[in-house]
Amino acid sequence: MKLNTNFKNIKESYLFAEVANRAAAYSAANPDKKVLKLGIGDVTLPLAPAVISALHSAVDDMSKQETFKGYGPYEGYDFLRESIRAYYKSNGVDLGLNEIFVSDGAKSDLGNILDIFSKDNVILVPDPVYPVYVDTNLMAGRKVIYACANEGNGFLPMPDKKIKADVIYICSPNNPTGAAYTKSQLKEWVDYANENGAVILYDAAYECFITDDSLARSIFQIEGAKSCAIEFCSFSKTAGFTGTRCGYTIVPEKLEADGMNANKTWLRRQATKFNGVPYIVQKGAAAVFTAQGQKEIQQNLAYYRNNAKLIAHCMDELNIWYTGGKNSPYIWLKCPDGMGSWEFFDYLLNGAQVVGTPGAGFGDNGEGFFRLTAFGSAEVTKEAVSRIKSLLKK
Ligand code: PLP
Repeated sequence: MKLNTNFKNIKESYLFAEVANRAAAYSAANPDKKVLKLGIGDVTLPLAPAVISALHSAVDDMSKQETFKGYGPYEGYDFLRESIRAYYKSNGVDLGLNEIFVSDGAKSDLGNILDIFSKDNVILVPDPVYPVYVDTNLMAGRKVIYACANEGNGFLPMPDKKIKADVIYICSPNNPTGAAYTKSQLKEWVDYANENGAVILYDAAYECFITDDSLARSIFQIEGAKSCAIEFCSFSKTAGFTGTRCGYTIVPEKLEADGMNANKTWLRRQATKFNGVPYIVQKGAAAVFTAQGQKEIQQNLAYYRNNAKLIAHCMDELNIWYTGGKNSPYIWLKCPDGMGSWEFFDYLLNGAQVVGTPGAGFGDNGEGFFRLTAFGSAEVTKEAVSRIKSLLKK
């Protein structure tokens, strides 16, 4: 037996474990102090009533001979793909049904899509970054290069014509930085990709947080994207599906290279390695697009947005530089007084009993930065903000 030694090139993923260890050690030493967590990237509100009702009725379908479902289509049921198509249409994007692939979440497809790309592509990933992009490529032995995201470019790196990349990852609104590209900035990336025969893997997992019309909800709102991009989206943050698991991937029919069609290749890959998302879950996901579902999930999103606003206002008051907070559930702040990410983590934990995520855990350029999230409860967020203000007010 030979194991895949590329796994030796992946950094130990200790970020969230170390955050939990330090928080637990503090609580054990200070049992009387209440620790508030603004570090998690998981949602906390339950599924919307419209989704719950659709899930129940789909369970009933499975109990009756006439409506029972066995294996479904690899690419998802048409009822859900039609709803996704209508959603894109409402954002000005025309999709063919065959361009929409339902998945069990964006993370799986972000990893799985690499099956259709040859090993010798050069991969361009922003630093700091959602670690999945780097690790999935390192596992396959690909070369990863980094686009430098920093305070100077607002954590939104732009294409560098001197650098030749084949596969480009863009996440907007971004995790961890909360920064989001404008449509005109994305146009520069699309032009660069088309000129270089590259593909953009566009992670739109947080598009539901966009409120500003100058920002893109989908890369396919940008002219030219259908010949150079694949988009990944998810119901996780949009509708609280982190534990329910459903997402979708858009592979345009026009995407071609080496005499092969990416859409057909992806379908072939899915047909070989994937047997679809459960019917029950797809019914729940389709309810997200109904009028009632939209009303209910918008209420949940407004709740998280309000938390984000509270945190962002706090940073404004303290004169702390940050990205995100608007159009994103993440606030990415510059640690005050030149502190390092972990130094600030300890300072905040000891001084305010608030837990966040050290930016250094997302890449070298994250050092000196810190991520707070809006996914906590309104009460916890309010209390945490008030404690942060008291601690950092000069
Ligand atoms: N993409 C980004 C940028 C994320 O932050 C996450 C989850 O936190 C995902 C994808 C994964 O989403 P899913 O739950 O659909 O797998």
